[in-house]
Order: sequence, then structure tokens, then C-alpha cells
Amino acid sequence: KNTDVSPAAAVHRWARVAGDRTAIVYEGTTIDYGQLSGEVRALAETLAAGGLRKGDRVAFLGRNSALVLETALAAAHLGAVFVPLNFRSTGQELAVLLNDSGVHTLIAEDEFRPAVDGIAGTVPARVFLLADTDEQAPVRAGRPVPPHWRRLSAAMVADRGREPTRLHAADIALLVYTSGTTGRPKGAVLTHGNLWWHDINTATVIDSRLSETALVVAPMFHIAGLSGFTLGTLTHGGTVVIRRGFSAEQFLEDLVVHRVANVIAVPTVFEALARTPGFAEADLSALRAAIVGGAPVPARLVRDYAVRGVRLQQAWGLTETAPLAAHLPAHLVGDRPGSAGFPMPHTEIRLIDPVTGTEVTEPGVAAEIQVRGPNVISEYWNDPEATRAAIDEAGWFRSGDIGHVDGQGFLHVVDRLKDVIISGGENVYPAEAERLLSEFTGVREAAVVGVPHAKWGESPVVVLCQDDGPNRSKATLEEIRAFLGGHLARFKLPTAVHHVDELPRNAGGKVDKAALRERLSPAR
Ligand code: ATP
Repeated sequence: KNTDVSPAAAVHRWARVAGDRTAIVYEGTTIDYGQLSGEVRALAETLAAGGLRKGDRVAFLGRNSALVLETALAAAHLGAVFVPLNFRSTGQELAVLLNDSGVHTLIAEDEFRPAVDGIAGTVPARVFLLADTDEQAPVRAGRPVPPHWRRLSAAMVADRGREPTRLHAADIALLVYTSGTTGRPKGAVLTHGNLWWHDINTATVIDSRLSETALVVAPMFHIAGLSGFTLGTLTHGGTVVIRRGFSAEQFLEDLVVHRVANVIAVPTVFEALARTPGFAEADLSALRAAIVGGAPVPARLVRDYAVRGVRLQQAWGLTETAPLAAHLPAHLVGDRPGSAGFPMPHTEIRLIDPVTGTEVTEPGVAAEIQVRGPNVISEYWNDPEATRAAIDEAGWFRSGDIGHVDGQGFLHVVDRLKDVIISGGENVYPAEAERLLSEFTGVREAAVVGVPHAKWGESPVVVLCQDDGPNRSKATLEEIRAFLGGHLARFKLPTAVHHVDELPRNAGGKVDKAALRERLSPAR
């Protein structure tokens, strides 16, 4: 009860103990712990002067930057709740989230001002601060320079009086909205305790340390870009390397130049890296916690990295689990490609038949994965109904993912319950064919979705990104069916193949299956 788990307090402590150690490298600018602590105090003072108090929500709208972390830490300094927003949201989408969270203060980068201006009267936020990492942007746009946070902080950095609010495990740290492609977005309420235990879990299973250098490639409005290897690294006195946007070339250069030890990314990002010129020769010897998850991981990807001496460790989790819930330890990567390993140390996993509600203990039998542990949320914001539907009284959280556990206890994530195709009454898991297709000649990526079918209700359709090679044309439906037919039952074989240059993706880099389904389904 008396333990202070504030990441802001941790950063202030590092400032005292090792003030000149590098905390953040943001687009080439280095911020040491002494400076970071000063910025956080100053920003906290600014926010407090605007009326922000413990428990109030402060939202952030912007690209990846040092300011995201400074704001999250300033929020923690005051005991306020940090609400990261997807910068690709429309004004209307933002208004829904700002109203739902009852936000007190919104910090938005100038680039996103049009969306904010459009909703200013319709949201409860009383204070709008305009942050801008590019000083000239408003000038170029012909507007007066808005109050700039860096200048504000410089003026107030002298005020070091206020001590950070002591935070306990049950205090809310983050309100992270799940992408909510269908229906109302749900705010996952992540407490400081959830983040704290997540960091302990992570620190326990990785072969590196959280006090080493981490590179952020995930968007920082996502839990993967915010927790663990980001805020967790600062709590542990490590260095976080941040880029405003993603480019594979930059990613590779940063890994080498900064001798990055820890990185977490979706499979597509690791795919892009593997295709980058120079990948084969780059010195990646420092990279010991290369964690891949968030979407099904092709075995080929793991092999491509193994050849380079990098053991890509599959992890599984969700926003609601902060995010890591299972992880394949580095030393087992060669043995179990395709597995998401074991539950995190203080986290339990069980499989429940979604139809009967009974626990499945037989090896290899697929069922819904449920999670329980101190890293798992206890509620959705302001939504008792969604909370009751997802979390039972004993604290088990329904992940909405299907998986099975093999005879040796390794977890295998099969697919999302909502992406399962029911064809002629049989369950078809798209990820099964997707994994196989990633081995088909020239295939960069593959997605399988269900489309309405007159006879079977739904039928699987394949969408391929395939490179043309010399003497090679794009795969036909017959070729794909023949290839998959060697591994899969007939009812799982696709009834159509479409070729595209790129798969549609959501902001987190995951394939947007809903968009694909819509595109491929005949108009109703
Ligand atoms: P939504 O918000 O629409 O529910 P999301 O992708 O934005 O979806 P996240 O919490 O970011 O939600 O991602 C969690 C999901 O990512 C998991 O439920 C699972 O489907 C998928 N996922 C995570 N790790 C893996 C993995 N190792 N293999 C396969 N899928 C994974």
C-alpha cells in the first residue's frame, strides 16, 4: 500500500543518482535524466497551473516524440491519467474519445490543429496547449506562434518545489482506447500497478536488461509503444531512442548506431527491416530482446532473423494485458518457431471453450485464451457492461483470441475469434493458411478473410502480395489450392485469390481485416 510506483518519481530519482545518463534520444537530440526530470517538473507545473489535478485526464495528440513521454511522466507527477490518442483519428472520432474520457486537458501538436479546432466547442477539455516540435510550422502556416511548451518549460524550470504525487498500484496511469473498428471504442484502464508488474514480468524474461537501450518503433499511442520498453526503460534508468516516423532504413541504422538491445514490433516491421539493404551485414550483436507480436508471426520471419544471429521472440498480448501476456524465451526460439511460448511470470493463462464455457486441458485443442494477473486490467473506463462481458469475478479476462497449448506447455495463438470463418458449419482459422502462404514462392504477405458464400455461408478468400520474379507470374487459384491442399482440409481451401500491392493496415501496422472483408464482399 505504501509503495510508490510513480514512473515520474523513478525518473527524478535517476536524475539525482545519474543525472547525466542519457534518458531519451529523439531525432538526434539527447536528453539526459537531469534534463528530463526538469522538463517533467516544468510541464507538470504548467499543467497544474491550468487546473489539472490527481485523477484528471490529460490527452495527447501527436506523433512519436520525447514530448509524449514527458507528458505521460508529467501526468504521473501529478497523479493524472494519460490518454494517448491516435493522430490519424478524425475530429469526430477524437470528440467521442475526449467526451468518453471526460478529458481535462488536451495537448495537441500543431500539425493536428485542424481536427482539434473542429471540435473545440464539443469536448469538455478546458485547456488546450499547443505543442510543436517544429518551431516554424505555425509560422509557415501563417499563424501566430502558439504558446510553445518548450519555452513555457524553460521559464518554469526554476520551480522545483512540488514533490511528485505518491502513486499506488491501484492509481490509474493510462486510459488506452482499443482501436474499436467495430462499435464503441473501449477505454482500457491501466493502473500504475499494471505497468509496474508488466515491467517486472518483462525484466524477468528478457536476456537483456530494461536499463539498456530500447528503440521505439510502435506508435506511442499504442500500448506497445508506451509501456514496457518505453516507460519501463525510463523507470529502469535506460535509454529510449525515438523517431517521429518509421522508415526501415532509419530503423536499421538506429539499431546499429545506438547498439539497441530491446525492441518490440509487429511482424510487418521486422519484415520491412529484413528487406532493407545492408541488413545482411549490419552488426546486430547488441539486439538481445527482439520481440515480435501483435499479429500472427510467420515461421519464415523467425528463420530469416535466426540466420542473422537474432532470435526473434514471439510474444502475445493485448492492450488489456499491458501488453505482454506470453513470451517465447530467446533460448527456445530455435525449437518452437510459431509458438508464443509461456505465460509471463506473474500471469496465468487458461483455455476456455467459447461455446460450452468449460476449461480445455487437452494438448492441441483450440479454445479461447483467457488471462489473469497483476498486469491485466480490471475494468473498461465508464463501461460496466463491457467490463462484465470481458472479465469474470475471479479476474479472468477473455482475450477474444483462439489458441492451444501443446504437450510441452507452449502456447500457440491460432487466430482472433472475430476473424474465424465459418464455412459450411466448420471453423476455418485464417492464420493457418496465412502462415503456409508466407512460404509460397515470392509471397511477401498473405491475408485470408471470409466473404459471404451462397452455399457455405462464408468462404475463405486469399489476398496476396506477391513479387513477380523472372519466369514467374502471379499465383492462380488452382496453384494456391494445390499448394494449400497438401496441408489443409478441403473446406479450408480458398475459393478466390486476389492480388494487391499492399494489404490495408491499421495505425498499429496490423492487417485491417474488416477493411478487406468489406472490399471483397459483394455489395449487399
Ligand atoms: P482491437 O482494438 O480492434 O480489438 P487491436 O489489434 O487494436 O484490436 P491490440 O490490443 O493492439 O488490439 O492487439 C491485441 C491483439 O493482437 C490480440 O488480441 C491478438 O489478436 C493479436 N496478437 C497479439 N500478439 C499476437 C501473436 N503473437 N500472434 C497472433 N496474434 C497476436
